[in-house]
Amino acid sequence: MRADQDQPIRLVDYRPSDYVIDTIDLDIILHPTATRVTSRLSIRPNPKGRANAPLVLDGDGLVPVAVTLDDAALDLSTGFATADRLTIETPPQRPFVLIVETRLDPTANTKLMGLYRSGSAYCTQCEAEGFRRITYALDRPDVLSVFTTRIEAARAEASVLLGNGNLVRQGAVEAAEGEDRHFAVWHDPHPKPPYLFAVVGGNLGSIHDSFSTSEGRVVSLGIYVEPGKEPLAAYAMDALKRSMRWDETAFGRAYDLDVFNIVAVSDFNMGAMENKGLNVFNDKYILASPETATDADYAGIETVVAHEYFHNWTGNRITCRDWFQLCLKEGLTVFRDQEFSADQRSRAVKRIADVRTLRARQFPEDGGPLAHSVRPVVYREINNFYTATIYEKGAEIIRMLQLLIGSDAFATGMTLYFDQYDGTAATIEQFIGCFAETSGRDLTQFMRWYEQAGTPVVTATHGYDASAKTLTLDIAQRTPETPGQSEKSPLVMPLALGLVGAEGDAIPLDAVRSDDLTEAERAAGTIELTTAERRIVLHDVPGPVSPSWLRGFSAPVRLISSLTEQDRLTLLAHDSDGFNRWEAAQTLVSHYILDGLTSDEAPDEERLAALLSAFSAVLNGALVDPAFTAQVLNLPSEADLARDVGRDVDPDAIHRRREELRGDIGQTLRTPLLDLYDTLSKPVAYSPDASSAGRRALRNVVLGYLAAGDPMDGARLCAAQFDTADNMTDRMAALGIMTLIPGSKQDGLLARFYAMFERDALVVDKWLAVHAVSPDPTTLDRVRSLMRHPAFSLSNPNRVYSLIGSFASNPTQFNRADGRGYDLVAEVVLAVDAINPQVAARVLNAFRSWRMMESGRRDRAEAALRWIAARNTLSADVRDIVDRSLA
Ligand code: ZN
Repeated sequence: MRADQDQPIRLVDYRPSDYVIDTIDLDIILHPTATRVTSRLSIRPNPKGRANAPLVLDGDGLVPVAVTLDDAALDLSTGFATADRLTIETPPQRPFVLIVETRLDPTANTKLMGLYRSGSAYCTQCEAEGFRRITYALDRPDVLSVFTTRIEAARAEASVLLGNGNLVRQGAVEAAEGEDRHFAVWHDPHPKPPYLFAVVGGNLGSIHDSFSTSEGRVVSLGIYVEPGKEPLAAYAMDALKRSMRWDETAFGRAYDLDVFNIVAVSDFNMGAMENKGLNVFNDKYILASPETATDADYAGIETVVAHEYFHNWTGNRITCRDWFQLCLKEGLTVFRDQEFSADQRSRAVKRIADVRTLRARQFPEDGGPLAHSVRPVVYREINNFYTATIYEKGAEIIRMLQLLIGSDAFATGMTLYFDQYDGTAATIEQFIGCFAETSGRDLTQFMRWYEQAGTPVVTATHGYDASAKTLTLDIAQRTPETPGQSEKSPLVMPLALGLVGAEGDAIPLDAVRSDDLTEAERAAGTIELTTAERRIVLHDVPGPVSPSWLRGFSAPVRLISSLTEQDRLTLLAHDSDGFNRWEAAQTLVSHYILDGLTSDEAPDEERLAALLSAFSAVLNGALVDPAFTAQVLNLPSEADLARDVGRDVDPDAIHRRREELRGDIGQTLRTPLLDLYDTLSKPVAYSPDASSAGRRALRNVVLGYLAAGDPMDGARLCAAQFDTADNMTDRMAALGIMTLIPGSKQDGLLARFYAMFERDALVVDKWLAVHAVSPDPTTLDRVRSLMRHPAFSLSNPNRVYSLIGSFASNPTQFNRADGRGYDLVAEVVLAVDAINPQVAARVLNAFRSWRMMESGRRDRAEAALRWIAARNTLSADVRDIVDRSLA
C-alpha cells in the first residue's frame, strides 16, 4: 500500500514542485516479462520551490536495477529507491542528471495502468498516475518535460514501434546475434507532463492518410489496429480529419506535429486517451462496419475521436496544474466535442442526447453519496474522479458561460486563454479570468458552479392576470445539501425563456414591457438568475401564455414549474425550441406515470386520451425530422422515472406502469404506427450519416410500440426485421425488442445472433448486454451462467462493463426485492478488484442511488455494501467508493 492512500490529497495543500525535469530520455527494451527501462532525467531545483528540499520521485511497484547521479553509481542497498519512491535527501542545488534503470513485467500487469499487454501488443496508459508504474518521475501534471523515447523490440514480436511526437530514427539493432531486433526513436518537442506519455509496440495493421493544416503543415495520420481489422478503421479516420478541420474553423486551433497516430486496443479501462501525438483507444471507439456497429456506435466513434483530438489543445498544449483542475481539460473538451457533433449532425437532437446522458449519469451522482463539486477539494483516489460530474457537468458550466457572456466574448476569451496559457499547467481561475477580461464581467459568483456540488432545484411559477394583462413570473433556486457541504449560496444561471400563446404564437421577450428585465436579458431572451428569488412582472401581455422555461436546457438544474398539463401540450405542439418540445413530452409522460403510481384507481381516461392524441399528432409530423421524432416518442427511462419519484422507489411498480402506457400507445395508435413502420421500411442503401440514422431510430422506436401493443405480431415483425437487416442498428433493435416479448422465440434469435458474430468480441459485448438488461426475473441466473461462458472474462473491461455494468443498470433486476442483484454485483466487484481496481470501482458506482430505494431494497443494498467494506484487502479505488457510499 502506498502511504498517500491513507492520507487524502487536498487542494489547499498544493505547492509547486521543488524540482523540475527539463528532459526525459527513455530507452525501453520491450520484453513480455522483463522489459528494461532506462530513464535519463535532467533535473534542476525549481526557482518556485523550496531550496535544499529532498528530491522524492514517485514510483508504483517498481523494481530498481541501477541508479546514477551525475555518473556516480548510488548504492541501492541503502534503500533510497523502493517500489513506491526514490528519495535523494540532499540533491545538488544545480542542474544534475539522474539515470535510473528499472525492470518490469508487462504481462503481469492486469490493472491496465502503466506498461501492459493487450493481446500480443504492448501499450501504455499513464493518466492519471500510471507513468510511475514504468519508471520513477515527478508524476504530477505541473512538471513538464521534453521526452525522447527509444523503443527496442524483437521484430517478430513488435514490427511496429510508436511513441509521442515525431519519428527521428529507426533501424536494426546491430549487436543482437542471430536475433532480428530493431528500434525506433521518437522525439516530442512539446514539453508535457508524464501522464501524456505513451509507447506502443506490436504486430499491428494500419491505415494511413494525410491532412494539410491551415498553417500549411502536412500531417501523416495513422490508425493502428489488430491485423485484418484495417477496413474497420475507415470511419474513425474520416472522423479524425473532420475533427482536425473543425478545430481550425471553430476554435482557430491547428495541429502541431508532423504525425498523428491512433492505436486501437481491446483491453482498456476507459474510452480513450489523448497521449501527445499517439492517442490510444478502446477499440470499440475505432472499429465499425455497418454489419457490426450500430448508429450509436458510429456516433460514439465520431465523438470520442474528436474528444481525444481536441485534447491536443485543451489538455496537452495547456494542461492542468493539479488533478483538482481535471475539469479544466475534461469539461472543456466535452463541451468542444459536443459542439463538434452538434455541427456535424442535428443540434437539437444532439442537445437532447447530451441532456439525457447528463440526467442519467450526472444527476444521480450529484444527488447521492458520491456527490462532489466539479472542482473537488479533496480526494483519496484520483482514478475515481473521472466522473460524469467532472466531464458532463463541467461541460454544462462552459455552455452556461457562453450563454451568459455571449458568443463573441466567449470566443475572444478562448483565444486569450490559448495565447496566455499555451505551454503551461493552468487552473480554473486562470481560465475563467480570461472570460472576465473579455466580457468585462465579474465572474466571482460564477465560480460557485465549480465549488458547489448538488443539482440546483429551480422553481418557476407563472400567473396571468387577464384584467391587468400582466404575467407574473416567480423564480427561485435552492441547492440541496451534499456530503460535506451543507451551506449553499445562490448561483448565477442563464434561464432561456420563451412565451408561447394559447394558439401557439410566439411572444418575443423584447415585445413586452417590463421594468424587471435588463435590456440584455430582453434582447437575448435569457434571464439571469443571481439571487435565491426573483420576481418579474411583464405588462401588455395580450392573453394567457405558456412559459417555455429553460430553453435548450440552458442550465444544469432540476426545474419544477407551475406549467399545467394544457401548457405542456401547447409547448409540445408549438414551441419553437426543439429541446422544450421534447421536454414537454417527457414531463407529460412522467407526470402521468407518477400519478398512476400513487393512486390505486384505474388510469385517468381523459388524461390518457390527451396524451395519446398528442402522440398521434407527433406521429403525423414524424417524417419532418425523424431523428427528433424518435427522441420525442422515446419515453423517459425507468431510471428517469425513478429519479422523478425521488424516494422509496419501487422499480417494479414503475416498470409495470411504463409498460402499460407503452401497450396503450401501441394499441391505440396501431394504424399510424404500422403505416410509419412500412414507410420507413423501404429499402435504401446503408449510410451511417445522421439523417439515415434518424430514420432507423424512428423505425425502431415504432417497432417497439408495435410489439408493446401486439406482442405476437411484434415478434413476427422483429424476426422479419432481424432476418432482412443489412446493418447492426436494425438487427440489434429487433433482437432487443424480441427479448422483451415473453414467450417469444427470443432464445433462438439470441443463439443465431451469437453464431453469426461469435468471432467479433465487440458484437459479443452487445449479445452479453442484451441478456443483462432484460426485465425478466430469470435475468440474474442467466447473467450468472454467462459469467461462465467462454466469451466472458473478468479481466477484460469491455466484457465486464457489457455484462455486469449493463446488469447493474437494469432497474428491476439489479434492484431485485430479494437483494440477489446487489449480491451478484458485489461479488463481481470483489473478484474484479483483485485484477483491475479501476474497473471494480467503476462497477461499484452502480450503488450510487441505493438510498433512494424503498426500505427493503435499501437494507439489502446496504448489506451488500457493508459486505464489501468488511474486506481488508480492498484496493484504494474500491475502498474509496465503498466508504463514501456508506458515509
Ligand atoms: Zn478527455
